[in-house]
Amino acid sequence: MCHLAEETYSFARDIVRPPSGRFSVFQEQWDQTDAMWDNQELASEWDTVLRIRDAVNHNIERARQDKAVGSSLEVDVELQVEPGPLHEKLVRVRKDLKEACIVSGMTIRPLLGADGRDHRHEGEVVYSRDLVLPLRRRGVGQSDEALQEDASAERCRVVIRTASKHKCPRCWVYASEGENKLCARCDSVVHRSQ
Ligand SMILES: [Zn+2]
Repeated sequence: MCHLAEETYSFARDIVRPPSGRFSVFQEQWDQTDAMWDNQELASEWDTVLRIRDAVNHNIERARQDKAVGSSLEVDVELQVEPGPLHEKLVRVRKDLKEACIVSGMTIRPLLGADGRDHRHEGEVVYSRDLVLPLRRRGVGQSDEALQEDASAERCRVVIRTASKHKCPRCWVYASEGENKLCARCDSVVHRSQ
């Protein structure tokens, strides 16, 4: 990697910046990022996305070990959270979360029963994991125990279920209303291109 960086620099140094007399990329300094890119709200949203994705992956791994599911697309995710700032944040990032987790469904609903009991259909496979999520971005090295004492932190239950819809033959997402039928998204793409 260091040789590649050096080789690229030997071709690009006069294009990238005015001639400096430096002969190695390792004599250069990092560029200072413009303050306009420091978006704390966006950073906080992606902190939440990544923490939930970890919990989803943990649940999927348990389900995989139990041979209940194969791929992550065979799963619908349900986030249970009380109305409030965290709920609003999850609604904002719901689409990004679904893409980041590579699952077939992502819904947000109120927290079910403090005892952790859940309603499920006959034969339905459900895995759940509770998280405490801070409203602000988590500080570097901030432990889960410290989060419990963060007054702004809210509880979120991350539940996975076996996907309820059918597998779309085009995109493989379990979002079709019937066997061997295109999902709504693929249907619109296919008809637009005809
Ligand atoms: Zn599809």
